Amino acid sequence: MAIRLFDSLSRELRTLTPSHADGVYRFYNCGPTVYAPAHIGNFRTFVVNDVLRRLLELEFGAAKVKHVRNLTDVDDKTIRRSREENRPLAEVTKQWTDKFHADCDALNCLRPHVEPTATGHIKEQVDMIDVLTKKGNAYRAADGSVYFKVSSFDSYGRLSRVKERELQLGSALSGKSHAADADEKEDVSDFALWKAYKPEDGDNAWDSPWGRGRPGWHIECSAMSKKHLGETIDLHTGGVDLLFPHHENEIAQSECCNGTLFAKHWYHSEHLLVDGKKMSKSLGNLYTLDDLAAKGFSPMALRYALLMGHPRKQLNFTLDSLHAAEKALATLRNFRSTLAAGGGDAGTFAAVFAALDDDLNTPGALGALFTVVNRGSAGVDAATFDRVMFAFGLNLTATKTKTSAPAEILALADKRWAAKQAKDFAAADALRKELAAAGWSMLDRKDGYSLEPIKK
Ligand code: AMP
Ligand code: ZN
Repeated sequence: MAIRLFDSLSRELRTLTPSHADGVYRFYNCGPTVYAPAHIGNFRTFVVNDVLRRLLELEFGAAKVKHVRNLTDVDDKTIRRSREENRPLAEVTKQWTDKFHADCDALNCLRPHVEPTATGHIKEQVDMIDVLTKKGNAYRAADGSVYFKVSSFDSYGRLSRVKERELQLGSALSGKSHAADADEKEDVSDFALWKAYKPEDGDNAWDSPWGRGRPGWHIECSAMSKKHLGETIDLHTGGVDLLFPHHENEIAQSECCNGTLFAKHWYHSEHLLVDGKKMSKSLGNLYTLDDLAAKGFSPMALRYALLMGHPRKQLNFTLDSLHAAEKALATLRNFRSTLAAGGGDAGTFAAVFAALDDDLNTPGALGALFTVVNRGSAGVDAATFDRVMFAFGLNLTATKTKTSAPAEILALADKRWAAKQAKDFAAADALRKELAAAGWSMLDRKDGYSLEPIKK
């Protein structure tokens, strides 16, 4: 078994292999901006990345995958929300981080091993910008902002094939950056690494060698992936909108600062449309998980519906697709209830894994799954079937009892649960010991686990 995945940079299917001596596969996924509930489009990207994480664990072993996903907790949107609500930025971003976690749990997404925040990594960002200015890749403008000099990096545009003409559009294409920045830049295509303080930033500013201000958006991923995964990572992912300028800028920053390859593999999943259109509040077609719950749909039905389309093609979401998903889940639940513990053929679902390993072909894999299900349960055992459900992340029963364990303990427990599902018992035992050392005992149930503090 080998996972082949489209690489947005080389534009070909390439096999995923760890490139570091420790055999740990380093996976960075750009995370959410925490200022509002994430919508089902965002969750398409996170669910696709979760299936990828699960496949990596099945392929390399749960203990040999390190997954980092950041939280953008300071930018124009988060600051604007904090100003509008007259609440401290940290309070607003905590509210939406908690909501994001609850939604991800409901969708059965494994927690990343590290979830770094931009505000928690100001020093790392400043250090990186400092190196870039000293190497001549960045310059300070009169107002105290610092810009990356795009002309200093010959390879700029390799990922997105952005043309000269498009570069000239500069600020119009520069994502979360500020239009007014254009006045201060030497060239329109240059982008902000550090933004000089503006009164509307309120208390959200930090000291730096260039004066008070805050980091630009792109630099956070370069700094946080370096800190938690090292200078060269194995896989970097996100939605297709991040290809340009965000990922192009990350490459420029990281490669100029570190002088080495930033990411070995780039993967971008396509967007979710709703009723054939881009989601937007004004069109009334923007859904959150709560909106769907209010209509009586389960998060697992959403997860299933999101997997019904090929991740590299746009997927048109309709409420009808949720009805179909609920029906499919009921069939799977029924099928599972007929399975015995052993005696099956381990190769029964080979076509399912072959489809998943072939560029994450989730619709093909679901089709192959139903080919087996429709044939009946003869020769299929529960453990083999559960391994397939693990790969899709489909939870056919309720999991995890509510617990007050902190996030890092939950992340360890999830990792151990995943290792157990993947039958990596050595890793599962090691993680159980790690949890015990941290004061938590993990109780396994058939369909999930609970955590209890160890009484002293
Ligand atoms: P944001 O919180 O805006 O930074 O987005 C979080 C993630 O969701 C990014 O990887 C985006 O590429 C992705 N994303 C945003 N809109 C959609 C959509 N309609 N469909 C799929 N993914 C999306
Ligand atoms: Zn990013």
